[in-house]
Amino acid sequence: MLAGLVAALSSGSIEVIDLTAPLSEETPIINLPPERGQPWPFSREVISDYDALGPHVYWNNIRLSEHTGTHFDAPVHWLSGKGSQDVSQVPPARLVGPAVVLDFSAEAAADPDFLLRRSHVEQWVSVHGPLPEGWLLYRTGWDGRENFLNEGHTPGIAVECARWLAEETPIVGVGVETVGTDAGLAGGFEPPYPCHWYLHGAGKYGLTQLRNLALLPPAGAVIIASPLPIVRGSGSPTRVLALVER
Ligand code: MN
Repeated sequence: MLAGLVAALSSGSIEVIDLTAPLSEETPIINLPPERGQPWPFSREVISDYDALGPHVYWNNIRLSEHTGTHFDAPVHWLSGKGSQDVSQVPPARLVGPAVVLDFSAEAAADPDFLLRRSHVEQWVSVHGPLPEGWLLYRTGWDGRENFLNEGHTPGIAVECARWLAEETPIVGVGVETVGTDAGLAGGFEPPYPCHWYLHGAGKYGLTQLRNLALLPPAGAVIIASPLPIVRGSGSPTRVLALVER
């Protein structure tokens, strides 16, 4: 079976699509109230650049948070998942699996505070089939957006939908194009940040700042997410790749 995969990759009948945003000093990070702790943006310092500090070597020290850029949220990231899996404890088999793409980019373009509801997902399921034991990728068109943070007005998932996805569907996690899995205004929801609260409370995961979801079919792609196994880490910058049949 793996020989078939290798042949399909070689012939191009299975394509590898990078869902990861490039990581640099320009990478946007979440905007939190100033009295709260803040994640670091990406920065770097040269260790040596083929110079006196290392005549044969170019390399850098880097500084960033566990939640900078395209990243993975582990259950322990939220109070509802306190004491459960950190990012180093996520079983590798959970990092490779099927993904569906729910495209609500038109709705999010019309209303940046658009919220995905259970009825939207059920409507999608009636057309495309059941949710997988894998990832629900929520497309909003945000990856192509110039004003990415949009003064905190970014689409997300309604409270009732987040709870239902976490507790009653087989998905392992939710992936989004925005800076976090919750809506920009979700700090004012009840409970606040319901996607984080319910998904991590149910041992499920988050992926953020994805791009290229437009290149994926509604169902049938396979996702490989590879967070660093940071011991006691709440998450990690992550390369996310999709395998798609052509
Ligand atoms: Mn995060």
